[in-house]
Amino acid sequence: MACRNHHALGEMTMDITLSVLKADIGSIGGHIAPSEALLARVREVITRQGAGLLLDSRVSSTGDDIALLMTHVHGSGHPDVHELAWNAFQAGTDTARRQGLYGAGQDLLADAFSGNVRGMGPGVAEMTIAEREAEPFVFFAADKTDPGAFNFPLYAAFADPMNTPGLLLSPSLTEGFTFVIMDVAHTGGDRVIELKAPEDLYRIAALLRDPERYVVESVWSRKSGEQAVAASTSRLHNIAGKYTGKDDPVMLVRVQKDFPATGEILAPFATGHYVGGGMRGSHNMPLMPVPLGSGISYFDGPPIITGAAFCVHEGKLTEPLDVFSHPFWNGVRRQVADKAMAMRRQGFFGAAMLPMDELEYTGITSLLDELDQHFRVREDSAEPLQREIS
Ligand code: MG
Repeated sequence: MACRNHHALGEMTMDITLSVLKADIGSIGGHIAPSEALLARVREVITRQGAGLLLDSRVSSTGDDIALLMTHVHGSGHPDVHELAWNAFQAGTDTARRQGLYGAGQDLLADAFSGNVRGMGPGVAEMTIAEREAEPFVFFAADKTDPGAFNFPLYAAFADPMNTPGLLLSPSLTEGFTFVIMDVAHTGGDRVIELKAPEDLYRIAALLRDPERYVVESVWSRKSGEQAVAASTSRLHNIAGKYTGKDDPVMLVRVQKDFPATGEILAPFATGHYVGGGMRGSHNMPLMPVPLGSGISYFDGPPIITGAAFCVHEGKLTEPLDVFSHPFWNGVRRQVADKAMAMRRQGFFGAAMLPMDELEYTGITSLLDELDQHFRVREDSAEPLQREIS
């Protein structure tokens, strides 16, 4: 086991890797949720083939996505861990096909595994950490949205004392955090920038206001240098060049001590902020915090987020606690449902539907191309100034 001496007093801590790999490999009744048989098959592969490779694992679903949370000592991006996930997703896809599930294998864009699932369809969030004496973290998974959905809650939790009083009150937080932000429109390699809160606050805000292009990849404590957040950043339509499903993101967030408190991380989700997602991946809808294992319903949405809180010790996970099952969130869900219906009342107009370059269907492009040929410019209708110039 990889152990190292992190403290002058000789306390031994262990380096472990938390890996989350997620994919939509088929669901019941449309884009609602995977079947029990599919989940069981994926769990079976992870348990059997992961023996000796993993320290622990949890298989869960959020909407139509399956997430594999795995702990091990092999570091981020390890080919054996990624291959195990790929094999589990393939096995689950076979079950999906046998059951006639919708979208069987839809996020597996490559025919065969080639060393790392990044760029092959599944979403990935991983971090290698020096395990603290107590190591609490929250695993978030969202469905019917994209990685930009985390821009607002991460900015609020790690950069805004209006949300996180710890930034004022706790000496371990007052030094601030480093944000690593990725330009996901760039497809030729990872294009990233590092910015520091609080002094780069306006620069961070200028990027994060555009969640379809700039997304938070990771956040780091400036006091300890330790990683606080790892989020998945893949945009499937940038990989495949066409609509292949939404890029439903996952995220790991370490909490307490040098990081914000769990409640400071959860608080922004009470806003139900509007995100890209819902119906055909083409609409703006509010993000609803829901209990673990929730499916999808209204308008193929609303976009949902689940949160499973864990502690981990020497790679062994506790049972998950459901952070959004508390009665407080019932009222939030009511308000988010109202926001969703308010937006839906304006159909396809204006802010309800995503802008043209984010629409994930090409039908409307063909329609507009055809109509373009039938436009005509009226004779003598140019402005006087334009007539003079020409
Ligand atoms: Mg999904």
